[in-house]
Parts: sequence; structure tokens; C-alpha cells
Amino acid sequence: MSKNPFENSIFTLHEAAKLGGINPEVVRLLEQPKRQFEFTIPVRMDDGHLEIFTAFRVHYSDALGQIKNGVRVVPNMDMDTAKALGFWMTIKHAVGGIPAGGGKGGIKADPSKMSRREYEALIRGFIRKLPMKGAWVDVPGADIGTHGRTQAWMLDELEEIQGFHSPAAINDKPREVNGTELSREATGTGVYFVTREFCKDNGFPNTATFALQGFGNVGRVAGELLQNDGHKLVAVSDIFGGIENQEGIDIFDLGKYADAHNGSVKGYPKAKEIGTSDLLEVQCDILLPAAVQSVIHEGNADKVKAKLIMECANGPVTPEAEQILYKKGVIISPDVLTNCGSAIVCSFERTQGLTDDYWEKEKVVAKLKERIVKSYHETVDTAKELGVSPRDGAWINALRKLERAMILRGWAWEDEK
Ligand code: NAD
Repeated sequence: MSKNPFENSIFTLHEAAKLGGINPEVVRLLEQPKRQFEFTIPVRMDDGHLEIFTAFRVHYSDALGQIKNGVRVVPNMDMDTAKALGFWMTIKHAVGGIPAGGGKGGIKADPSKMSRREYEALIRGFIRKLPMKGAWVDVPGADIGTHGRTQAWMLDELEEIQGFHSPAAINDKPREVNGTELSREATGTGVYFVTREFCKDNGFPNTATFALQGFGNVGRVAGELLQNDGHKLVAVSDIFGGIENQEGIDIFDLGKYADAHNGSVKGYPKAKEIGTSDLLEVQCDILLPAAVQSVIHEGNADKVKAKLIMECANGPVTPEAEQILYKKGVIISPDVLTNCGSAIVCSFERTQGLTDDYWEKEKVVAKLKERIVKSYHETVDTAKELGVSPRDGAWINALRKLERAMILRGWAWEDEK
């Protein structure tokens, strides 16, 4: 297996392209980004010294539309990470039927060590120095280290530069600054819709039990919707610890407890205490890893008891674990499908900004459901057609959409297949 995240993405590209018989010119075009930028952002710090930060922006592929994606601000940001995530977002947009290209960007900085003034200067500097910007070129959104407030600064800076309003040019904005409804709950809501489809098609009853790793934005929202449907939550863990009660845990009561205890479920009195990773091995029908990557690996895959794994986090199941789980008959809903809800709702945010027509929450939910359920069917249909896993089905379905667009645009020739 390859060494860095970008090489891993290319490895997956080659595997899926082989299984799906994808045009070799398309594969070659997808082996590197269309454009990549590295630039500096000088910031006068509060103590008077000048700090020079390095920023990255990758336009991986715009075959399906303008670039749209997050800006990550972390101390170890680098170009390989931006390339890997940009490629991955290209695939996710294609899986989700989103008319946008994939990209990613970031700044090498530690927001926790900066004052608000310094951080605002950094974020505004990112927009000033970003070489290509605007609703039809590159729409930056939030990621680790960025949030509604930073996105409002980005929008403000861009509009000051342009001299006119441009709400469709920045994503993940607060609702009050031309943002969209469901922004915060988009991914968890999408996870719920996809879980429901997998359950329906695979004979899981509405009462099927589930366990959540991660009680953050994604896990908690998905869990609340599943419980409202009749599913029984039996275990939850977060970075501080875990809890289990096979009789059932009321997620709303647990939420109140977590809100009062630093966001953590640890110590919840109506359940027994378990370890963070014990959660992956508890008795349950559906397992939702919604925390971090690679938690299900060669060492614990054979102890997983769930029959359906919903990859809410990015890459929670390693390729080695996946082989073990498939042999046990476990169904895995791939990350690119399971968690594409926020990418879909971001594209709705841009549409609303372009049309100046801001939708009610019910409309956003209905349109998300329609889009993600369609993506689910495309994924499983491709998997069935080729006799491959849902992950390969999702990737091949995405690559086929990119292949078609690239051929129609004249980037690749059909007869090269
Ligand atoms: P969050 O920060 O709101 O919550 C993360 C949760 O995971 C917290 O409960 C935290 O305590 C727990 N956690 C962190 N490290 C852990 C560990 N090692 N073991 C067990 N629990 C741990 O994050 P989120 O927005 O809910 O995102 C969850 C995952 O989904 C992340 O991997 C994120 O990259 C991915 N994701 C999020 C979105 C989104 O829109 N928020 C979209 C796509 C993918």
C-alpha cells in the first residue's frame, strides 16, 4: 500500500478504474490535479512581528462544474493533503450527483494559538491572495479550523474586493449571512437517509439496534433521526470513553447529559461504562463509526458484530478490515456515499445564493433526500451490475460520470477505451 494520502487515493482510482473499465485517458487526467496553488499570507501579529503563513488550494477536477470545497486550517497542512482531499471531493461530488468539481485548500497554522484579530487577518488574507475566486470558479467552504464565522469573513472580504455582493461565492456561511438551512445537520441527515435505504433493501426492521462511535455533529444528528424512526441505540462512545445499555439509550436524554458534561457521554448514569474502541465490538445490527479514520482494522474486524456498517467518518474501515468483513457478510456503506450530505447541501447553498431565493428547511431536507437516495440507488445498481462491493460501485459510478463529461468536453477520446 502507498505511503501518503494522495498516493492512497491514486491507488483506489486505479483499482476502481480497472474494475469499471474506465477510459485510460480519463484515468491519466485524474492522476494529478488540474491546477494547484501554493501562496503566502503575511499577517502582522499582535506583538508586532510579521508572520508569514503558507496556504494551498487545489482545483483537482472541474469536469463536472466549478470548484467547491473546504479550507482546512491545521498546523500540518500540506499540498499532498490538499491533493488527496481534492481528488476525494471530486469523487464525492460525482457520487452525490453534485454539479461541481472537487478541490480543497488549507493554511498551515494553528488557530488555537492565534487571537481573534490575527485569525480574522489570516482568513481575509487567504481570500485576498487566493488566485482564482468567485461563484463560477472556486467556492471555498468550511473544514477543520474553519466555521460559520470564518466563512462570513471570507464573504465580506470577497465582496469588498469585488465591490458587489456575491453570496454564492462562499459556502458554509451562517444563515443570517445568506447561508442555507440544514447546514449544520446536513451530513447526519444524509447518513440517516442512506441508512434507511440500506435497511429497507437488506431486511433490517425499523427496530434494528445501532451503536455510534462519535457523538459530534454527524453521529448525534444521524442517531436522533434513527431513534425517531424506531431504531434502538445501544452504545455510544467519544474520545473520552463509551457507554452501553442493550435495553436502549434515549439519545435525547443522553444529549442533555453530554451538553452538561463538556459534550461527552462518559459517565452517563443509565448505562454501563465501556472503552472508546470497545464500542466497535458491541452487539448491534448497525454500526456508525462517526469519529475518525481507520478505527476498524485487521486487529478488530473479526470481532465486529454489526451486520451493516455506515462509514460516517472518512475512511473508518481499512482496506484489510474490509476484506475480513466482506467474508463475514457484513455490508459496508462507503464514506463517499454515506457522508456526502453536506457536499449536497453546500451545492444547494450556492444555488440559493445565485438565485436570491432562500429555501425553507423542509425544502432543503426534501431535496437532500431526493438527491442522496438517487445516489444510493446508483451505487448499489452499479455494484450489482458488476458484482462488486458498494464502495467499488460508488467509485465506478463516479468515474463513469467523470469519464462521460471528460469525453464530451473533448479532454479524452472515446476510442482510447
Ligand atoms: P465532531 O468534531 O463534531 O465530533 C467528533 C466526535 O468524535 C466527538 O464526539 C469526539 O469526541 C469523537 N472522537 C474524536 N476522536 C475519537 C476517537 N479517537 N475515538 C472515539 N471518538 C472520537 O465531528 P463531526 O462533524 O461529527 O464529524 C465526524 C467525522 O465525520 C469526522 O471524521 C469528519 O471528518 C467526518 N465528516 C464530517 C462531515 C461534516 O459535515 N461534519 C462531513 C463529512 C465527513
